[in-house]
Amino acid sequence: MPRPAVRARLAALALVGLAGCESLRPAAPVPPAGGPAPLAAASIPKKPGGIYPPGRVGPFVFYYDAPFPADDPVFRDLETLPDQIQRELRLPVGTAFVQVYLFPDQDKYEAFMRDRFPWLPPRRAYFVTDQKRPGGADDLQVYTWMGDHLRTDLRHELTHGLLHGVLKGVPLWLDEGLAGFFEQPVEADGVNFDHLDKLRRAGPFDLARLEKVTKVEQMEKPEYRESWAWVHYCLRGDPAARAALLEYLQALRETPAPGPLVPRLRAILPDPEAAVAAHLQRTAVPVARP
Ligand SMILES: [Zn+2]
Repeated sequence: MPRPAVRARLAALALVGLAGCESLRPAAPVPPAGGPAPLAAASIPKKPGGIYPPGRVGPFVFYYDAPFPADDPVFRDLETLPDQIQRELRLPVGTAFVQVYLFPDQDKYEAFMRDRFPWLPPRRAYFVTDQKRPGGADDLQVYTWMGDHLRTDLRHELTHGLLHGVLKGVPLWLDEGLAGFFEQPVEADGVNFDHLDKLRRAGPFDLARLEKVTKVEQMEKPEYRESWAWVHYCLRGDPAARAALLEYLQALRETPAPGPLVPRLRAILPDPEAAVAAHLQRTAVPVARP
C-alpha cells in the first residue's frame, strides 16, 4: 500500500468512534498478562472484499471473500429491518450505506480486530463509525464473522448502523438497548427471553447510572440487559414513556447531546424504576421463542 494511503488510514483511525456491541462471549479466550503477543504481519487477515462483487441487501453492502449468499434467510431477513426501525421509532429513511465486512471464521475476525482495534474488548461483532475527515459524513462499518449467531448479530449491528445514519449521536445505553430490541426476530416483538428471565430476578434498575456509561468497555452483560429493559418498557410498557422516548429520538436528530432521558421520564412517571420492574414481570414470553 502506498505511503499516502497508509497515512490517510491512520488519520482516519484517530477519529474512529465506537458504538459497542453484543457482549455474549462467555467462552472468549483470556489474553495472557500484558496482552496478546502481536501477530506477524503476514498472519494478519485482510479485510474481506475485493475478490467478489459486494452483496447488497437494502442499504447494507456486504464484503465477503466468496460469492455472496443473497438468498440465505439470514440476509433476506434484513430486507425489512430498515422499515421496521423507521416505523417503530418514527425516524426518517437514511441515505447512508452500512458496509459489512464478513470474515469466514472467528479466528480470522479476531486476528483482524486485534490488529486494527487493539484497545477493544473481544466481542462477536462490532459496529464502528469512521469519520474520514472532520465534519464529513461517517463511514458506517460492521465487522463480524459467519458464525451461529450471525442473524442476531447482523440485526443488532445494523440497527446501530441505521440509527447512526439518521441521528446526530446515540447515547451508548440507548444504542445498545435499541439494538437489543431490534436484534430479535420480528415475531418476538422485541422480547429477549434470556434478558427477561434474568431481569425478573434482578434489580434495582437505575437509568441515571446507565446514562453515565460512555465507554464500550463499561458495557457488560448487566448493562446490555438493563438497557434493553428500559427500551422495551418505553416502547411496549407505557404510551407516555413511548412518547417520551420518541421525542428524545427526535431531539437526537438535532443534537448529539440532548441531556439525559431520565428527567423526562420522571416528569411523567412517579417512579420509572418501579414501572420498568413491573413491566418485566407482566411481559409475556413470545410463543415462538427465537
Ligand atoms: Zn451493540
